[in-house]
Amino acid sequence: MIAGKDYRRIQKLALEILKKTGLPIGDMEQHCLEVVDFGLGNADVEGAQILTLLNTDRLSVKIIVLLPHQTLPEHRHPPVGDDPGKEETVRVITGTFYLYVPGEDNIAANAPPPGKEKYYSARHQAILLAGGQATIAPGVLHWFKAGDEGAVVFSFSTHAMDLLDQFTDPSVIRTVHIVH
Ligand code: ZN
Repeated sequence: MIAGKDYRRIQKLALEILKKTGLPIGDMEQHCLEVVDFGLGNADVEGAQILTLLNTDRLSVKIIVLLPHQTLPEHRHPPVGDDPGKEETVRVITGTFYLYVPGEDNIAANAPPPGKEKYYSARHQAILLAGGQATIAPGVLHWFKAGDEGAVVFSFSTHAMDLLDQFTDPSVIRTVHIVH
């Protein structure tokens, strides 16, 4: 859970990063930028700010804003019924964006949040800058981290069912509980 004052503080920080991109985001949409703490209670370190622009039965477009060095925890998008799972393409708008997937281990020692290393098993790092993009196949573990300036990325995907995402850390709760 996240305290209301932290939710608002982090949302404000994320909006400052988002506004610098020049993307046209309306006032109402700004309020919809969701601070997701993944139930871990340490959103500045493990969390993400997510604005869903579109989520139809077939297609989803989101903007993900990460604070400097903020990590979006490792997860995969599992098959659901006849659907093989969400296929996701991230495209960087601004900042340095670190994408981790399974593969050759070239991870920096301090990349996973301290003490949480066992929940970050995907150890192949790709560094994406503005205009860079990568596609994550359904079912493939992945996690994200921002560099010094934070990062803003588009996430284009097939239909998103966030509540069904499978996180490596069993403590993750995908619904956001704000306490006042
Ligand atoms: Zn994902």
